[in-house]
Amino acid sequence: MKELLLDLRGVSKSFRTADGAPRMVLEGVNFSLGEGEIVALLGKSGSGKSTLLRIMAGLVPADGGTFTYRKKPIHGPVEGVAMVFQSFALFPWLTVQQNVELGLEAQGVAPAVRQERADAMLELMGLAGFGGALPRELSGGMRQRVGIARALVTNPDVLLMDEAFSALDVLTGETLRTDILELWDSASIPTKGILVVSHNIEEAVMMADRIVILSSDPGRIRSEYVIDVPRPRDADSPQVRAMIDEVYGLMTMRPAPAPATTAAAAPVVDYRLPETDVNRIEAVLDLLAQAPFNGRADLPQLADEAELPDEELFPTYEALGLLGLAHVEKGDISLTPLGYRYAEASHTLRQEFFGQQLLMHVPLAALIRKDLEAELSGTLGEEPFLSVLKESLDAEQAKRTLEIAIEWGRYGEVYEYDFNAGVLKLPDEEAKQNAQT
Ligand code: ADP
Ligand code: MG
Repeated sequence: MKELLLDLRGVSKSFRTADGAPRMVLEGVNFSLGEGEIVALLGKSGSGKSTLLRIMAGLVPADGGTFTYRKKPIHGPVEGVAMVFQSFALFPWLTVQQNVELGLEAQGVAPAVRQERADAMLELMGLAGFGGALPRELSGGMRQRVGIARALVTNPDVLLMDEAFSALDVLTGETLRTDILELWDSASIPTKGILVVSHNIEEAVMMADRIVILSSDPGRIRSEYVIDVPRPRDADSPQVRAMIDEVYGLMTMRPAPAPATTAAAAPVVDYRLPETDVNRIEAVLDLLAQAPFNGRADLPQLADEAELPDEELFPTYEALGLLGLAHVEKGDISLTPLGYRYAEASHTLRQEFFGQQLLMHVPLAALIRKDLEAELSGTLGEEPFLSVLKESLDAEQAKRTLEIAIEWGRYGEVYEYDFNAGVLKLPDEEAKQNAQT
């Protein structure tokens, strides 16, 4: 059997929110990384991917569960586990060479040896001749090469990469990814296991032997997907496209509803609204309605056409689904009958549809509307709604969710928002009628 490099059993972690309440970020996470594996960890933003990585690197402790590196409990930073960050995390005042040597210094390696190893690593990463440069003199792609060189120079047993390519433009990211896979596949580095966190499905499918998907709130391992295709893989081959499709399907699958803890009668207002806006929702709907899709699209193809990153598209698909305008299933998205009518509707009719769907499917919007109708003054502050949301969301999420509900509600003319006074009110026409009755 393969040796386990990292092994996490029943790991949980909570953070305190701004108002001091604990919020569970990870719960009951079981995960292992074996020798010889590249595993990709996918999940929405905020699902706890970075937290999980930091636990594995020994940078933060988990609250519960067991977590080991080569069977030894992880207590603090683990020698043998190196991490690469999205932000590169280089010291701006140190040269490239000094940045790379840093990891070795911490391990007490003698200066002459440090220099030699750093030189060799710079060469391997395509940075020969850049040792004396300062990070700011380099392009983003080159800077991340330094970040990777700094991790690899320690000859890590395990390499953890946290969205290491996502701050780079697509082409640069792809080149760097290919270089790392070459080093790995040709065994030019002694590293025995790699874990990449990504929100890019294609990247995950191109790199990984296994993809693990983390669900949100709290983060749990939702599904696993094994990729049994030798590298290098051709991103355009039908086989790879089909796998990308399947993983899209797994990602957009709504998790099974949590066991009912509240009575069915009470509207659930704790729903975190998808981070998207009306313009984007309508743009994606319009794109989907047009040729060549004519109402039904393969998600990766739609993504190509939309030229928007996955982290903007996913919430938008979620919103379209939530509003009953489209269906997402197994890597495809298709318009519902209402979605078709919406696509053809005039601006005014679109607003009407939007408002009607909002009231029907977003309990928070329905609650705001109901409370406003019952309120004689016709206006309400944000506070009561925020405090309802804060029962299940952290302060930041509650604020964002209310902002989104306000934006959507204004568009659908379900309610109005007075930005000067910071109060919600009924749309002007209806406010008058309400006052008369
Ligand atoms: P991801 O990497 O998947 O985007 P993170 O692991 O960074 O997610 O964060 C998961 C959740 O935990 C987020 O809601 C974030 O706000 C929260 N969180 C992360 N680190 C801290 C911290 N040090 N203190 C409080 N909350 C945190
Ligand atoms: Mg992260």
